[in-house]
Amino acid sequence: NFAKTEQSRIRYYVHGEDEAYLARLQMLEELKDAINNDDGELFFNYQPKLDLSENKVNKAEALIRWINKNGEFVNPEVFIGLAEQSGLIVTLTRWVITKVIEQLADWQTQGHIINVSINLSAQDIQHPDFVDFLLQQIALFKVSASQITLELTERDLVENEELVVERLTYLKSLDFDVSVDDYGIGQSSLSKLKRLPIDELKIDKSFIMKLDQSETDQDIVSSTIALGHKLGLRVVAEGVENKESLQLLREFDCNLVQGYFVSRPLKAKEFIDWYLSYEIPLVSEYKMD
Ligand code: C2E
Ligand code: MG
Ligand code: MG
Ligand code: MG
Repeated sequence: NFAKTEQSRIRYYVHGEDEAYLARLQMLEELKDAINNDDGELFFNYQPKLDLSENKVNKAEALIRWINKNGEFVNPEVFIGLAEQSGLIVTLTRWVITKVIEQLADWQTQGHIINVSINLSAQDIQHPDFVDFLLQQIALFKVSASQITLELTERDLVENEELVVERLTYLKSLDFDVSVDDYGIGQSSLSKLKRLPIDELKIDKSFIMKLDQSETDQDIVSSTIALGHKLGLRVVAEGVENKESLQLLREFDCNLVQGYFVSRPLKAKEFIDWYLSYEIPLVSEYKMD
């Protein structure tokens, strides 16, 4: 009897795994179709990055969105993860790069010079054609390298470090900016980061979201900002959800802030409307309270 129960449990388990596997395969096929068909299922939201040092907003992060054929929102963490595991990420990132640069060119013809952050994966930066492709796209759309920030996580940066350092050094010499995304949850120390050719440190939102309520987070964040500055880096806080946290970040001398309190990620058109109507005096209002 026991054996029988175990057996059916095992069969059930295997069956469950099978289903999950098939669902992932199906999602992957749907994602490939979405990229190839290019019919609006995949698009971007742009989240403003408020520059506290210079009191301006001329930077944004491009965040991919997928509303599939059935009208369902698919979490980017899920499909990006799947794309990374399957190797589809290289194709997806090329599509991302083209679309974002096309958007930058469009804004440029309207007279708006925006710097956009693009999220990359380890496989992208290590791919032999990455730099050529990027250069080809900016040339095609007549966009300047200085308008593009490349975001990589600590993990992406230390994998195959020698190659990555060489590539980023070259990209930086061409005027691209490099940002370390989700900083603080990976393994690398600031001394390791010191050797990397980077411009920006983006403190992970897990340290920022409840900054106003946690003294520990405040200690971590203020010292990270100070150390980042010592290394000559610009520091960004992501996940700023309230006024109190923004005020603290200002006191800590954080250079840029990004988060729901400043703005949610917006559709391209909404982003430009927001950008145009954003009034700088509003920034000093944060300071008054
Ligand atoms: P990320 O690069 O760290 O992006 C920041 C995430 O935090 C975004 O989630 C954003 O919507 C969210 N966020 C912004 N402000 C707040 C806030 O105040 N509170 C909270 N709780 N969250 C906030 P999203 O858009 O779901 O993206 C998740 C991740 O997916 C990104 O994390 C990035 O790693 C990846 N991703 C997004 N777009 C792309 C892309 O085009 N290519 C690649 N390779 N990865 C992407
Ligand atoms: Mg990012
Ligand atoms: Mg990330
Ligand atoms: Mg992040």
